[in-house]
Amino acid sequence: MQGTYNLIIVGAGMAGLCAAAEAAAQGAAVLVLEKEADFGGSSLLSGRYMAFAGTDLQQKEGIDDQSQFLIEDMLAVGEGKNEAALVEAYGDHQLETYEWLLSKGVQFHKVQAVSGHSVPRGHTITPKQAITALYEAAAASGTVTFKTAATVKRLRKDEAERVSQVVFEYGGKLETATAENGVLLTSGGFSKSEELLENFAPQLVGAIRIGGKGNVGDGIKLASEQGAWLRDFPYLKGTYGFHPTADGPRKSQALVFYKGAIIINKFAERFVNESISYKLIGTEALVQPEKITYQIWDQTIMNEGVSGDALYDFEKLLSLGLIEKADSLETLAAIIQVPAETLKTTVDQYNDDIQNGGDSKFGRTTLTHHFGTPTPIENAPFYAMRTTVAMLATYAGVSVDKSARVLNAFNEPIAGLYAAGEIAGGFHGAGYMTGSSLGKAAIFGRIAVQAALEKQVVL
Ligand SMILES: Cc1cc2nc3c(=O)[nH]c(=O)nc-3n(C[C@H](O)[C@H](O)[C@H](O)COP(=O)(O)OP(=O)(O)OC[C@H]3O[C@@H](n4cnc5c(N)ncnc54)[C@H](O)[C@@H]3O)c2cc1C
Repeated sequence: MQGTYNLIIVGAGMAGLCAAAEAAAQGAAVLVLEKEADFGGSSLLSGRYMAFAGTDLQQKEGIDDQSQFLIEDMLAVGEGKNEAALVEAYGDHQLETYEWLLSKGVQFHKVQAVSGHSVPRGHTITPKQAITALYEAAAASGTVTFKTAATVKRLRKDEAERVSQVVFEYGGKLETATAENGVLLTSGGFSKSEELLENFAPQLVGAIRIGGKGNVGDGIKLASEQGAWLRDFPYLKGTYGFHPTADGPRKSQALVFYKGAIIINKFAERFVNESISYKLIGTEALVQPEKITYQIWDQTIMNEGVSGDALYDFEKLLSLGLIEKADSLETLAAIIQVPAETLKTTVDQYNDDIQNGGDSKFGRTTLTHHFGTPTPIENAPFYAMRTTVAMLATYAGVSVDKSARVLNAFNEPIAGLYAAGEIAGGFHGAGYMTGSSLGKAAIFGRIAVQAALEKQVVL
């Protein structure tokens, strides 16, 4: 069966649905193919922070911010290994995209301090609400055809060497569709692919795998066949902060360390400055003996939990039985089976240090990056959470330019092929800054459509 469209979008998470809504607003004929029965991919599971600067929400909180500061922070977190043109494109389009998302019915609730940013910039969404609003915005136009349980298998070039055909499996049969303006890959990353993770990130063996069920790197393979170059694979990292039973949809993440908890290994020794990026903590945690680590804190820190928050709802995790509680450090040590004497020494030394102006072991002076002051762990009861690293998102992928055109090894665009969202590499460089993945999915999903539809739209 054949169909002809202006644009074919492969995958319906944040990037694909923003692209579909953008294309719909331009009146383009679009086919959206989603492998799973439902839309949303990893976007639906996300911690819900989107990084924007200079927004009304920040202004209401008296936060002075602008694109340039965001760009500088991203380049710093990425250790300058990120493609500056991509980061600048994010900066140029971020505020307009935030306002565009609002105009499509996406709700932003509040702004929070999150990892890697010099000012509070984590704009929270409810993923389900955002995904539904974007789908409805795209569907309302009547020019977008959505097919779920439709898996793209291969891409084909036409006689002019332009990627223009998509072969997909639908209803047990192979079908082909043609795109006049381009094929946009928004198929996410490969956090659920053992094959690709084993190949590209052997250092992450032992990290649990969380992400959209369909996120096994199909798009990267599809683009590679067409000659795409790959970026940022040496920098793949996991995220620290999950209980080992985490599976994605179930609440199991707590970043108590950003509220003041210390992190210890099975010998009850600290091994890291708890205020650095949870990605970098993850790297350290995976080289601890037997990969066993715990967050340890007291009631003062427990009181800093935020009910209903994806990362800070400590009471919720306690009620789920994922957090241990004890009246003394000795009892806590017995419960989690670490040496009680060492735990006491570790906590005493930490308390002394932070009350005397500095952490002599790892230099901790704040809670999260530039924010907050550590408090001593001394106010019973005490708490512990066995914590591990999860591979949530693969911030590496196909090489793209600032118009989201997929590039080959010689930095030349592959005609007709675009990529946006987690599938794209080169943007984060050596480190991911919280909120920038959902942010880049929205921003570059729209940019890709604008670039692809620059040609006259023919309906
Ligand atoms: C637990 C968790 C918390 C996170 N928290 C944050 C956060 O707070 N802030 C942030 O910025 N990022 C966060 N991330 C990362 C972020 O959610 C993702 O990077 C982002 O949502 C990716 O969006 P996307 O549209 O590119 O891909 P996805 O949302 O994953 O969508 C890709 C879609 O493509 C489909 N697909 C795949 N292959 C095919 C194929 N062959 N044919 C058709 N369809 C296909 C998939 O089924 C999927 O639905 C988090 C991720 C996880 C898992």
